[in-house]
Parts: sequence; C-alpha cells; structure tokens
Amino acid sequence: MMIVMKPAATEEEVQAVVERVHSVGARAHVIYGDELTVIGAIGDAEHVARLELESTPGVDHMVPISKPYKLASSQIKHGQRTVLDIAGRKIGGDHFAMIAGPCTIESREQTLETARIVAAAGATLFRGGAYKPRTSPYAFGGLGQEGLHLLAEAREQTGLPIVTEVMDARDLEAVIEVADVIQVGARNMQNYTLLSEIGRCGCPALIKRGLSSTLEELLMAAEYILKEGNESVMICERGIRTFETAYRFTLDLMAIPVLKELTHLPVIVDPSHAAGRRDLVLPMSLAAAAAGADGIIVEVHPNPDEAICDAAQQLRADEFAGYLERVLASAAVAGKALSTDVSIAG
Ligand code: PEP
Ligand code: MN
Repeated sequence: MMIVMKPAATEEEVQAVVERVHSVGARAHVIYGDELTVIGAIGDAEHVARLELESTPGVDHMVPISKPYKLASSQIKHGQRTVLDIAGRKIGGDHFAMIAGPCTIESREQTLETARIVAAAGATLFRGGAYKPRTSPYAFGGLGQEGLHLLAEAREQTGLPIVTEVMDARDLEAVIEVADVIQVGARNMQNYTLLSEIGRCGCPALIKRGLSSTLEELLMAAEYILKEGNESVMICERGIRTFETAYRFTLDLMAIPVLKELTHLPVIVDPSHAAGRRDLVLPMSLAAAAAGADGIIVEVHPNPDEAICDAAQQLRADEFAGYLERVLASAAVAGKALSTDVSIAG
C-alpha cells in the first residue's frame, strides 16, 4: 500500500504514519519527493489492510501497489527515477554509465592495462570477474582473492569504481572490501539467500537477468535486495535463451522500455554476453542506448584472442575509445550523457 501525504504534511505527521504502519507489523518505506512525501507500507496483505489511515492528519490518500514487487515498482516512486551515486558517479535519470573491463581478471598486466585504457577513454566504472561462474566445472574459475587485490590496484591507479561478481555469500565480506558494486550473475539471479545477504550488506548491486527469467522474476529478485533496506540496485538485461542459435543469447531490447515503465531502478544492458560475438556488440550497444538504457556493461580486453574466457566477444581495448564515442552519441538521442560529477580518485 502506498500512503500519499498532503503537500503540506509535517514531519511529525509523516512519523505518526510510520509508527502506525509498524504497529500493524508492516514495514514503512518513506520516500521524500520534490513535492510529495509517499510512504510505502510493505508487509503481509492482511496487516496492511488493517491500516485505515484515510482520516489521519497529513494523509491525502492511499493507493494499493498492484504489482507483486513493491519497492522495485515504479508506482512507489510516483514517476521519479532512482539515480545511484557510485563513488561520485551518477547512474540513472539523465546519467548514462559505461561499465567496461575484461570478462575475467587474468593477470596484473592485463587488468591494469585495460583499466588504464577504459579510464582514459572516459568509462564510468571498471568491471572484471575474480569469481567466475563457468558452465564447465573444469574451466578456469577466476583468481579469487588474488583477483580482488588486482581490482583494488586498478581502482587505486585509475580512480574507477569496481564492479565485480560474488557467487557465494561466504565470499561477500572479502568482495565488498573491494567492490563499489556487487554483480549478481545471471545464474544466481534466483539465489534468494545470496540476494538477501547482499541486501543486508548494503553495497550497491547490479543484478543480471537469468537466462530464462521473466521481467517480473527479475524485479522480484531486485525486491529481495531492496527489502533488506539496500536501495542501490541496478538491473541488467544480458540476453535470454530462445530457439535461435545464430548468436549466444537473444538480447531483449524491448525489455528496456518495459522495465523502465515497471520500475524506477536504473536499467543496464550487457551486449557482450548476449551476443557472444564481438561484431554484434557495437550495434546492440547503439540500439540499447537509443532505447533508453541507463548504461552499458561491456567486456574489453587488451588481446581478446588470448583471453581465458569469452575471447570471441570482448572488444579490443584499442578500439574502446571509438566505441564509447559512438555509444554516447546514441545515448544523447535518448537525452543521456555520462555523469561528469566525479568527486573521487582512489
Ligand atoms: C559476466 O558478466 O561476467 C557474466 C558471467 O555474465 P552473466 O552472468 O550475464 O552470464
Ligand atoms: Mn564474460
């Protein structure tokens, strides 16, 4: 249930409503907008039905949230979009993010070289996997802790915030020492205990759509993180499994405008894993940016042909600056530009 306060409602009136919500066993989620304050009452439907707040001072009206995801729903924000601040880089609203880096952290040289190149070109965040979900249990699973150290060094040298995946809650503590954004991989999108742990740890999260997940399932996964009080969540379309075999997955471009209708959270697109082919990454990035994506997460490697993982899809680092320039022209069509309000280095 959403409780919309009157424009002139006082803070005391807001707090009285919050207390009333708690008293029926529900959670109160207060959103202070430019003109209105809205309080989301989240909990058991029976509890929420007992609220009866219509004639409470300061309350204007109540609107039920019809979607099964509540905190992720655009209804709760009354049309406002969430803008995340990742170490000074804004993502969402008019702010476009370019998250770039190798699939896998392989070595010090490969990591630092890629980080320097993407930072110099103007990337917003640096990505790289230290813990890699691999289809084959015999494939390289990442450098683990050593990879995290290399990511920390890349951050120190370039100032770029780090996005890296956590696969197991047991590694969460070590990962959040380094990560500015935790990535939840497509294969873990419905790992609900991991999602709740990430929600509790408070580190911003980027959650990727499962290979065969609906948009509603994706938003319910985001809800697990939001429910724990962690409001810094981005969602990512990375291609879904269809009958087509000419490319690795099918990039669901329609998900971009539809997700933006359903949720206030920033919507990121990963053309690399969808395509599985380098030549498709630019056209899909252009299309995603023009369709209103809030950012792109893309794989870049100094020498992709020798990459340990995802060799066929990683962009060549020396082509990244040209790629970014073209993607930004496309983002501009949708009214977005890179966040320039960068207040950190290291
Ligand atoms: C990745 O980004 O490195 C990755 C493995 O992606 P996904 O979970 O989307 O397959
Ligand atoms: Mn990859």
